[in-house]
Formats: sequence, structure tokens, C-alpha cells
Amino acid sequence: MINAEEYFLKIAQTVSEQSTCLDKAVGCVITSADNQIIACGYNGAPSKVADCRALLKCRKEYGQSCLATHAEINALIKAGERAKGGKLFVTLEPCFECAKAIINAGIKQVFYSKRNNKNMVYKMDVKSILEYVGITYIYLPLEEKDNGDNSICNN
Ligand SMILES: [Zn+2]
Ligand SMILES: [Zn+2]
Repeated sequence: MINAEEYFLKIAQTVSEQSTCLDKAVGCVITSADNQIIACGYNGAPSKVADCRALLKCRKEYGQSCLATHAEINALIKAGERAKGGKLFVTLEPCFECAKAIINAGIKQVFYSKRNNKNMVYKMDVKSILEYVGITYIYLPLEEKDNGDNSICNN
């Protein structure tokens, strides 16, 4: 039995598998305050725009920025007004742009399962801006499941 936060982070992880970016896959789930799923999103190029797969490489490899819209933004667009007062679960620590969108969407709690070590200064900004406006910001790593011997069932 897992708690609600782990449950939604695991769903976000599954959602991330739909990502079209070849550099990284991120998944996001938005729920209401009472844990009803409102919307999901993954990082991918905007509609009608060639994604990383079509280019065979992520544009990041050419020193440009990836065309993908971030998972959080895609989920917030789908959730619309219903995101207000809700929770956001994402597989990677949000970037500063997404943090600002999360604030304006009225999200009250953010849970993420992986740290983004790329930019420490940036990271501090995300945490401090979210906490400054009263958003709960929690790092909740998902434990790798033990895939050992499951042959003995004790039920
Ligand atoms: Zn990409
Ligand atoms: Zn972002």
C-alpha cells in the first residue's frame, strides 16, 4: 500500500513515458485538493511542430533550447481553472518558468520525485519563490522496487 503522493508520482512517471523529447522525459499530474486527477502532461513539442524524434536529436545537442513545452505547462493548460487550489506532481524538479506558471495557476502543493542538479542557483530560486507565496514544496523520491524473489506468497 502506498500513500496518495507516491501513487500520483508513479502515475506521473508513467505519463513521462509519452514524452517526445530525446533529452529527457518528464511527466506531470495535477489533482484537486481532495486527490481527484484533473489533468496529466508530459514534455513534448507544441502541436504541429516537429519534435525531437523528427529531428533525430534534441536541439539541446546543438546548443539550442528544446522545442518541447514542459510537462507542468502542458498539464496546467489542460487543467485550466480547475488547477486552482490543487496539487501538482512532477517527476523532475520544476524550472523557474514553470514555478511561475504554477503560482499563477493557483496550485497549493508541489511534489517532485527527482532533483534537477543542473543549476543550483536556479534551484534555490524555485524553492524560495514557491515557499515565499505559501506553496508547499516537497521532494519525494520514489524508491526503486525490489525485484527480488517474489515467488513465496504469504496471503
Ligand atoms: Zn528535446
Ligand atoms: Zn519547466
